[in-house]
Amino acid sequence: MLKHPKNLTNLTNLKDDDAVLQPLYGRRALTEPIPKYKLPENEMAVRTAYELIHDELMLDGNARLNLATFVTTWMEPEAEQLMAESFSKNMIDKDEYPQTAMIEERCINMVARLFHAPEEGQAIGASAIGSSEAIMLAGMALKWKWRQRRERQGKSSDRPNMVMGANVQVVWEKFCRYWEVEPRYVPMQRGHYTITPEGVVDLIDENTIGVVAILGTTFTGEFEPVEQIHEALMKRNAETGWEIPLHVDAASGGFVAPFLDPDLKWDFRLPLVKSTNVSGHKYGLVYPGVCWVVWRDEAELPRELIFHVNYLGGDMPTFTLNFSRPGNQVVAQYYNFLRLGRRLYAHHASDARHGDVSFRRDWQTRTVRIGQRWQCDSRVRIRDERPHTLHGVRSIGKTTRTRLAGARLYHAARCRGHRRVARLHSRRFQPRHGGHVPGRYS
Ligand SMILES: *Cc1c(COP(=O)(O)O)cnc(C)c1O
Repeated sequence: MLKHPKNLTNLTNLKDDDAVLQPLYGRRALTEPIPKYKLPENEMAVRTAYELIHDELMLDGNARLNLATFVTTWMEPEAEQLMAESFSKNMIDKDEYPQTAMIEERCINMVARLFHAPEEGQAIGASAIGSSEAIMLAGMALKWKWRQRRERQGKSSDRPNMVMGANVQVVWEKFCRYWEVEPRYVPMQRGHYTITPEGVVDLIDENTIGVVAILGTTFTGEFEPVEQIHEALMKRNAETGWEIPLHVDAASGGFVAPFLDPDLKWDFRLPLVKSTNVSGHKYGLVYPGVCWVVWRDEAELPRELIFHVNYLGGDMPTFTLNFSRPGNQVVAQYYNFLRLGRRLYAHHASDARHGDVSFRRDWQTRTVRIGQRWQCDSRVRIRDERPHTLHGVRSIGKTTRTRLAGARLYHAARCRGHRRVARLHSRRFQPRHGGHVPGRYS
């Protein structure tokens, strides 16, 4: 969120000290203070500009030490090099950069196959800036498809609803508010933080555009029982003639389950699963800015949602909320796909789940497991109703964050170990130079 300096409209109210940057060391290079909130009149030397900003950014946290995220904080230098090489390419300009577009297409194919898109069908997908954009796209497709069905039946289509757990990531709330869909939350119970088939069936009706199940919930990392929910939905649909589909939010589990639980049916092997999303920047192990959304068949993506743009050259169909964005994250994802293959993705996912990522703080001990049932303690309170607190979870700082840090923590410890992380693991790990696996170039 943009934070305005105090009284942006009247800069004269700023005290002199607040209005300018005056780094002490820079005196020789900087002959005058640099205004903070208005465009400087004059240029400055290349190196000075770099140093000034570089040093100011040292005030940020150290991303590698950010154990509270499951978004990627480290990539191999070769990936970074490729990313730097493709910053300048605009992902949307597929005529000018057809090879980047091709790489995107290959990635979509890989993801669709990983999720068992039917071979005889025409799976279709897109890259997005994050699961949030992907979910907006998937949600829109659900809403449009539902409206088409209703119109075909000559029924009203003015009261769409969507059924999901009270544990959904905030983007689902956003989707519902922005696209005017009534959210119906399956309540959570103390000690049980996933939705149940019964809970879902209780809430659906003819106006349900879709049901959302989460593979790897944001709060506990648990997989919701997609197959059982699917079964209940099949049954209810058969009884009523409804055609309620299922979307699986696999933002975090999508690059874990296929490797560790190949027999777990949560993906396109279940016919009502029409679409799914996975964050490349979570267990896809790419820096923030990439995600994948896939539909089991192009018929699930209403034509009206696809825009054809021709002013960049040829005819270009697009389905995105954004337009221009750098091609580098897609390139980085492709690098990881080639570099890691199924084997090392499995290795990583296994680290995240089974690696000893428990660590001790003076007040608690935690064990982190992605995709397994896991004991929540009473500090986590997900209320029955969506409350106003952050996603309904209170003490996110104390429990959830540590829990979710699993893979990152382990990764951080394996990579060029930072002393603090290393100390946490001193009895178990030998932090070493290296990347994804023992022996970076193995
Ligand atoms: C992280 C997450 C999202 C949002 O993903 P971004 O890639 O950060 O936009 C959505 N759903 C779930 C379950 C998540 O864990």
